[in-house]
Amino acid sequence: MLSSDVVVVGAGMAGASVAAELSKRLSVVVVEAAASGEEHSTGRSAAAFLPSYGSAWVRALTEASRPLYDAISAESGVPLLQLRSLLWLATDEPSEDAVTELVRTSPHMETLTPAQARALYPPLRAERVRSAAVDRSAADLDVAGLHQSYFRTMRQRGATVLFNSAVRDIKRDGQGWHVAAGQHVIRCAKVVNAAGAWVDQVADRAGIPGIRIQPRRRTAFVSPTRYDGDVCELPLAVDACERWYVKPEAGLMLGSPADATEVSPGRPRPDELEIARALEAIEETTTLGLRSVQRAWAGLRNFVADHEPVVGAWSAHEGFYFLAGQGGYGIQMAPALARLAADIVAEEALSGETAAYGVPASGLAPDRLSRAAT
Ligand SMILES: Cc1cc2nc3c(=O)[nH]c(=O)nc-3n(C[C@H](O)[C@H](O)[C@H](O)COP(=O)(O)OP(=O)(O)OC[C@H]3O[C@@H](n4cnc5c(N)ncnc54)[C@H](O)[C@@H]3O)c2cc1C
Repeated sequence: MLSSDVVVVGAGMAGASVAAELSKRLSVVVVEAAASGEEHSTGRSAAAFLPSYGSAWVRALTEASRPLYDAISAESGVPLLQLRSLLWLATDEPSEDAVTELVRTSPHMETLTPAQARALYPPLRAERVRSAAVDRSAADLDVAGLHQSYFRTMRQRGATVLFNSAVRDIKRDGQGWHVAAGQHVIRCAKVVNAAGAWVDQVADRAGIPGIRIQPRRRTAFVSPTRYDGDVCELPLAVDACERWYVKPEAGLMLGSPADATEVSPGRPRPDELEIARALEAIEETTTLGLRSVQRAWAGLRNFVADHEPVVGAWSAHEGFYFLAGQGGYGIQMAPALARLAADIVAEEALSGETAAYGVPASGLAPDRLSRAAT
């Protein structure tokens, strides 16, 4: 039987990042159902770092992650963030209101006239645009680079990673937890449940209440463009009500209908109708001329009721922690969220560094979800 201080369930970005942080202080075993940690949400993202996207706490965690990205890049010699502006576009009243709200709430936003937006984004149909704003601090993310750097770090610190090892059962006795995963049984003092869309299933195997995770499907596709300028220089363009977005991707364009359909945990299929709708909307607003889809995929963005991440243990179930509900921001805020989660799991309190993020541990703890329900 293996033994460790902590077992982390799931080796996606959440599990890998918190395992790397925890392995500084504790012995760690990571158990992952799939053959790699990139089979689900982590391998299906749009790889964008968007400081003006998400709730105030998500934005704070994203901003706090920027210096950590820089530190990991400096250590590995591979830049993980490459600046790419984010252009928010309004073409109707609701999206105009959304741009106004973004400018009011985000320090990064710069308002643009339609003509200025076109100068920044030459294939824009400026006559369609009612208002626009740009966030020049946004970036493309090297998701695989970040994920691999966490695996390198945790292994250098002695952590064990067990792939093809789905958690079957979790039991507690006087000596701690016994996690049965694949062929293995691991004895540990603490469990971190970072199983993405499956967190409630894993909690159930431990006899612990779930957090009512809501997996939501998001479709993405890549398509060639008729735009004859330098595609790589284009910003990420997004409808301010998040009905579509499009960004350069290796000489092609990566687009999404920004769908958010509630589904069960699993491997979702891309929604063809949603793709057709996005192509039409992108064509109405730009002259990119996206028509033939080369490749399409879908993944899960997992939310709880208030759309904030969940970090911590139910107060009635100490020693079993959740790191879940990262929604559409689980890569961009991973470095800071992992530090904060490691503080909570290892010390049961925030360090000076993670307290400075301005996100209270109590606000992220699962107990808030039952308070909200009552
Ligand atoms: C189309 C799309 C675009 C996105 N774009 C962005 C973006 O631009 N920027 C951004 O920051 N975020 C983005 N996201 C969100 C981001 O991908 C997620 O927030 C992040 O990947 C979540 O990571 P995770 O580790 O929680 O989940 P996952 O990567 O799904 O990992 C969970 C892991 O748990 C494992 N597991 C499940 N059950 C068990 C079990 N019983 N035993 C052991 N292991 C188990 C699974 O196999 C899986 O590997 C996007 C998501 C999608 C779908």
